[in-house]
Amino acid sequence: MIHLIRGFRDILPGEVELWQRIETVAKDLFEHFSYREIRIPIMEKTELFARSIGEDTDIVEKEMYTFADRKGDLLTLRPEATASIVRAYIQHKLYAEDPVRKYYLVGPMFRRERPQKGRYRQFYQIDVEAFGVAAPYIDVQMIFMLHTLFNRLGVGDTQAHLNSLGCPQCRPAYRQALMALLDKVHAQLCEDCRRRKARNPLRVLDCKVPACQQAVADAPAIVDYLCPECRDHFDTVTRSLDALQVPFVLNKRLVRGLDYYTRTAFEMQTGALGAQSAVAGGGRYDGLIEALGGPPTPAIGFAIGFDRLAEIVGQLQGSAPSGIGLFIAALGPAAQEKAFMWLSRLGDQGISVEMDFAGRSLKAQMKRADRLGAGHVLILGDAELQKGMAQLRNMTTKEQQEIALDGLVETLARELKK
Ligand code: AMP
Repeated sequence: MIHLIRGFRDILPGEVELWQRIETVAKDLFEHFSYREIRIPIMEKTELFARSIGEDTDIVEKEMYTFADRKGDLLTLRPEATASIVRAYIQHKLYAEDPVRKYYLVGPMFRRERPQKGRYRQFYQIDVEAFGVAAPYIDVQMIFMLHTLFNRLGVGDTQAHLNSLGCPQCRPAYRQALMALLDKVHAQLCEDCRRRKARNPLRVLDCKVPACQQAVADAPAIVDYLCPECRDHFDTVTRSLDALQVPFVLNKRLVRGLDYYTRTAFEMQTGALGAQSAVAGGGRYDGLIEALGGPPTPAIGFAIGFDRLAEIVGQLQGSAPSGIGLFIAALGPAAQEKAFMWLSRLGDQGISVEMDFAGRSLKAQMKRADRLGAGHVLILGDAELQKGMAQLRNMTTKEQQEIALDGLVETLARELKK
C-alpha cells in the first residue's frame, strides 16, 4: 500500500470538527475588525519567495519545495502567505482605490523541515495582514486580536513577546554594535551563525544552539538604538497594550527569521501545555511592498501555527464530535425506498440524517445509530407502512412515540429542530 509523504498528515473527521471550530472563531473575530478573507494560489514563482523572504534565510536556503515544471519554470509551494498576498495587492493594484486593505487567510504552507512532533512539512497557518497603515495602533490591533482569539478559544496563560527591529535609519548603528560583540565571540558561534554573521547578523540572536545563546546573552538591545520615530512608535504600542490589558514582555532577542521586517516584531507564547512555546509570530514589514514593485506602503501581519493551536485547544477542551439528528432504520425494500425519499427531503430541511442501505437487522441498525450519536431513530418496517405510522425513538430518554407517515417530513422537521 502507498503511504502519505513523510512530514505530511491527514486530518480526519473527529479532529476536523475542532479545526472548523477554531476557524469559525478566528474568522468571526477578524471580520469584526474589518479584515476580509483572501484566497491565493498555493504555488508561486520561486523568485517571489526568494526575493521577499530573503536568499539567506533557512526557508529559502533549505526548506522550500521547489521544482521545475514541464517547461522548466521554477515554481515553489508557498512556505508562508505574506509574499503571495503582497503579490496580489500589487498585481491587482488593490492600493489604487484605497491603500488600506486588511486580509486574512487560512491554508496550508509547505516547508521541508525535519519532521518532529508538532512540525510538519505541510502545515497550516491562519494568516492576517494589514496594508497601508503606518500608525502604531494597527500593531496593537494585531496583538489584541491574537490575545482575544486565544482567550475565546480557552487558551489562557498567553503573553505577547515584543521587540522593535528599528528601521533602515537606526538599524545600521545597532548592527555595528552587534557586530562588535559577534566579532568577539566568533569562536563560540555555530557554523550557521558564522555565516549569518556575515549576511544577516540579527539572526544570530535567534539561534537555538545553546552555545550561541550564551555567546549573545549580553548582546546590546535594539530598543536602545531606536531613532526618535521608531522609539515613539514602540512606546505607543506598549502604552496601548497596557491600556487594553494585554500582557506582554519585552524580548530583546526576538528577531524574525524573515528579512523584510521593520519596527514591531512579536510572538504569542503560551504556557498552556507546560513548556512555553510560540503559537504565532508576526511583525511590521514597511519595506516589502515597495521592494516587490508596489508603491511605498507600510504593512504588518502575523501567522498563527494552526496545527499547534489545534493541539493546544484539543488538549484543553477535548474534541466533542457532534452526533447526527436522525437515523432512519428501514426494514425491507419497500420501507427502504420510502425512507430514502424522506432522508433526501429531511437533509434538505436542515436535519442531519443517515440510514443504512444494506438491509441489515434492526439490532445492527440501532447499533450503527448509536455509533453515529443519533439523537432520534425513526423505525420503519412493513407493519408500520401498512398502518401508516412509524416509531420515533428518542435515544436520550429512550421514549418512543408513533408518528403518522402523512406529513412525516414536516412533523420531524418541527420535532427535531426544537
Ligand atoms: P513563521 O511563519 O515561521 O513565523 O511561523 C509562524 C507559526 O507557524 C509558528 O509559531 C509555528 O506555530 C507555525 N509553524 C511554522 N513552521 C511550522 C511547521 N513546520 N509545522 C507546524 N507549524 C509550523
